[in-house]
Amino acid sequence: MPIEAHMLCASCGACMRLDTGRGLLTCPYCGREEPPPAGEEPIEVLGKATDRLCPACQSPLSEGRIASHELLYCNRCRGMLIGMDSFLGVIETLRDLRLRPAGVLAPRDEAEASRSYPCPVCEAPMENHPYGGPGNVRIDTCEACAVNWLDRGEALRIAAAPDPVQGAPTCSDYIDQR
Ligand SMILES: [Zn+2]
Ligand SMILES: [Zn+2]
Ligand SMILES: [Zn+2]
Repeated sequence: MPIEAHMLCASCGACMRLDTGRGLLTCPYCGREEPPPAGEEPIEVLGKATDRLCPACQSPLSEGRIASHELLYCNRCRGMLIGMDSFLGVIETLRDLRLRPAGVLAPRDEAEASRSYPCPVCEAPMENHPYGGPGNVRIDTCEACAVNWLDRGEALRIAAAPDPVQGAPTCSDYIDQR
């Protein structure tokens, strides 16, 4: 299976970098510039696949980054594993970029909402719960590992929600909502 050209330069194939000041992807080699892909998070490709598995599709997770926030992402389904200490930074970065979620992205349905993903780090079942902030999004959390799992586009939904980031929930706010 070919590697999808996600965040790779269409001209030279290098990994594109996110210019957060201008909201553009730029190629450090040939200088190509383009807007981030619509409807998904602009995750920079950092490294090769890790031995952690995507909880949704069991593909190996890869090292990536949004602005200065490192994370693991699934190259196949585009889910993201974000440390709790990076989570709000990622959301604020996406909000600053004014990226919009795809219109077709539906909320997780009932069956999905009741399923439980294994934590990619410790393999214990993650807790699936409504994110206690804007966006009407359910996320998966492993408190022991201090990580959140977001399916593709869910971070954009949170970032694009109308609520101001001022007063945004802290980690403990949403962990406590059960
Ligand atoms: Zn290039
Ligand atoms: Zn996946
Ligand atoms: Zn865990």
